[in-house]
Amino acid sequence: MTRFEIELKKGNFVCSECKKCNQLVWPPSEFCSKCFQSVTWRQITPDAKLVEFSKKGDQIFCIAEFEDGIRVVGTLDTKHYDLKIGQSLLLTECGFNGSERFVFKIKTQ
Ligand SMILES: [Zn+2]
Repeated sequence: MTRFEIELKKGNFVCSECKKCNQLVWPPSEFCSKCFQSVTWRQITPDAKLVEFSKKGDQIFCIAEFEDGIRVVGTLDTKHYDLKIGQSLLLTECGFNGSERFVFKIKTQ
């Protein structure tokens, strides 16, 4: 397992960041994909935006975008069906069990 997966399994959504490029490296890696410098790891801010969604039975699948344009596929835990692209989401749960798992809810002010 990668460091990213180990942390994800513990419920920590972390990503590598290049101090030289001042950018998160996605997909996460021990080295920056642009300048090949070593990276530091840090927690990702749980705020995201809804990029895309689709309904399958009772479940809503979504693509959410975090800081620095990081995008993940997850599920949206909501009873609201008037979803809008660009809506603010909050990451409430993450995990790893062979594949990545991200659960979001709609962020209310
Ligand atoms: Zn770099």
